Amino acid sequence: MKIFCVGRNYSEHAKELGNAVPENPVIFSKPDTALLKNGEPFYLPDFSNDVHHEVELVIKISKVGKKIQEQFAGNYFNEIGIGIDFTARDLQNSLKTKGLPWELAKGFDGSAPLGEFINVKELDLRKIHFSLKKNGGLVQSGNAEQMIFTFEKIISFVSQYFTLKVGDLIYTGTPAGVGRVEAGDKLEGFIEDKLMLTCEVK
Ligand code: ZN
Repeated sequence: MKIFCVGRNYSEHAKELGNAVPENPVIFSKPDTALLKNGEPFYLPDFSNDVHHEVELVIKISKVGKKIQEQFAGNYFNEIGIGIDFTARDLQNSLKTKGLPWELAKGFDGSAPLGEFINVKELDLRKIHFSLKKNGGLVQSGNAEQMIFTFEKIISFVSQYFTLKVGDLIYTGTPAGVGRVEAGDKLEGFIEDKLMLTCEVK
């Protein structure tokens, strides 16, 4: 399976990192070894002193497709969950400065905790509220209505380049409020008021 991620899909987050709002989705991928499931702990890597949490809505692809038209893209997923796109921000900034790919800063082991999923029929896709608490305090809060690119646009765009398969995941970008995590932190991800993801940092 493949894991795709969208960068800069919330304008407030693009601004907080000093990035322009993009014309097309910014896409990168993570290997399957980045996944952390069932509340597995996250071990801070030794190559970074500034790992940031990015809470994101995650689409699970339910049907094989390529070159999917936007108007049919809704037929290619039936579950949405929540995940964290851990980012070694210091390493990412140094790679960006050199014009190098972000893989090392984004795709390392354990960089993609994944929580539970909800059937899309139970959600208003345009208005999903989600949030992240760190040690019990709210640090990130977003709503799908703030996304620059919709779920359908992202699926259509990614599938122009990559065949999507059943079980592939797309992390759809983070709202403002990203920040550093430290050993001992406990992260909790919510869709509406429902706890969907727990991750302890070690
Ligand atoms: Zn992200």
